[in-house]
Amino acid sequence: MLSFEHQFATLPEPLWMACQPTPVNQPTLIVFNQRLAETLGIEVKPDDATLAQWFSGNQLPPGAEPRALGYAGHQFGNFVPQLGDGRALLLGEVIDQHGIRRDVQLKGSGRTPFSRGGDGRSPLGPVLREYLVSEFMAAMGVPTTRALAAVSTGERVVRQLPEPGAVFTRVASSHIRVGTFQFAAVRRDEAALKALADHVIARHYPEAASADDPYLALLEAVVARQAALVARWMSLGFIHGVMNTDNCSIAGETIDYGPCAFMEQFDPQKVFSSIDQGKRYAFDNQPAIAQWNLARFAETLLPLMREEGDTVVEQATDSIRRFGPLFDAEQCRLHADKLGLAPESDQADPLMKALKSQMHQGRMDMTATFDALTHYASTSSELHKEALLALTTQPNELAAWLDQWQAAQVASQDSERLDAMRRANPVVIPRNHRVQEVIDAAYEGNFAPFHTLLAVVTQPFDESAEARRLAAPATENEQVLRTFC
Ligand code: AMP
Ligand code: MG
Ligand code: MG
Repeated sequence: MLSFEHQFATLPEPLWMACQPTPVNQPTLIVFNQRLAETLGIEVKPDDATLAQWFSGNQLPPGAEPRALGYAGHQFGNFVPQLGDGRALLLGEVIDQHGIRRDVQLKGSGRTPFSRGGDGRSPLGPVLREYLVSEFMAAMGVPTTRALAAVSTGERVVRQLPEPGAVFTRVASSHIRVGTFQFAAVRRDEAALKALADHVIARHYPEAASADDPYLALLEAVVARQAALVARWMSLGFIHGVMNTDNCSIAGETIDYGPCAFMEQFDPQKVFSSIDQGKRYAFDNQPAIAQWNLARFAETLLPLMREEGDTVVEQATDSIRRFGPLFDAEQCRLHADKLGLAPESDQADPLMKALKSQMHQGRMDMTATFDALTHYASTSSELHKEALLALTTQPNELAAWLDQWQAAQVASQDSERLDAMRRANPVVIPRNHRVQEVIDAAYEGNFAPFHTLLAVVTQPFDESAEARRLAAPATENEQVLRTFC
């Protein structure tokens, strides 16, 4: 019923190391993603006790062969030649209903040969946050790793204070990162590097195989996927928080939801992560950081690339430079959707720039602003206009902007545009204070708020009373300003 394959294990060590999970005291299933399981071909619904055994690592599901994967990475700009899965284990790969190979990985399942000083465990709070945020991203159609299961361990893990522990099961197109390539490159292991690159091409970018230089084509394809991904993040106010090269997926998925958060009041320099003291990964820095990470990826590929007229460095540099235009084009399309304009509108970017400034100056909540604008676009009612103006501290300025926007919007208004606008502008996001509320309740043993919030954020366009309640921005007292991983 779960049939695992192990293609990654055909790559040479030390890209991976076999390692067993460390059993936990009292595994209890918190949540299992039945719908995702079905898409992965897990057809029979095992009982909760079996699921808790499997997804805590206490028992391996049939066919699983746990491995910790090696990777290096630039952490906050500093290169660390060996990081690797210090608390995660790949159980194997499954082929989903679309024929796509997916990794199934335990996170928090105990120490591995890559653990260094860490305990190999995860506190419950970050597990619940990753579950909620990654499933919200999936519901929004943003490329992301998925949440398959969360199990509480009955054990405590010590962070700032002792906290309850949990194991998270993550599904990804793959767990190969920029850091995986850096790991092979820094060891000057060209055989491993080539095997890895060929594996990635076959798995994620088969069209690159027939290019003149498959490795240059691989670089170009990853640049395009990352540009599209980060544009999606920016359109939702998502701040990843730890865009280290080891958290930059080669498949172009959002990966590693440590201290991530959505901003509420629009602020380009916003940072939530307690460990990002230099504000390296501030909201507006994200595209430039992604491009920087891709330049590190390009460096690893140089030994594989072919000189052809231009040197390999020139070719790679050109590919990295293409990030900017690719990102801008994707962002422009998303801006048009968010504003209810036609995709070809030349007003999308200038109007969005002006609205961002309004949101910043007027202390407006980003999600609430676009939700209110969506309502106003679909009704043109005075009531919805008032609701929008109530969101800013500078209503006169916003009213002037609305006039400009309406002039552009009326010209391109049709039901298809309004649908696209709705899909670009969620009613509800996993707001920090709501996520924190869920975590606080879970630490008291009450998981009902988690299930409620999960149901709401995975239907992000729903307008139910519960959705409206959980969609409301944090009041001054409710605000959560720091996140931890
Ligand atoms: P992250 O900041 O989550 O991307 O993790 C960076 C590195 O630290 C990775 O190599 C992780 O596997 C490792 N790591 C994070 N937390 C732990 C932990 N509790 N025990 C062991 N390794 C860890
Ligand atoms: Mg990581
Ligand atoms: Mg992490």
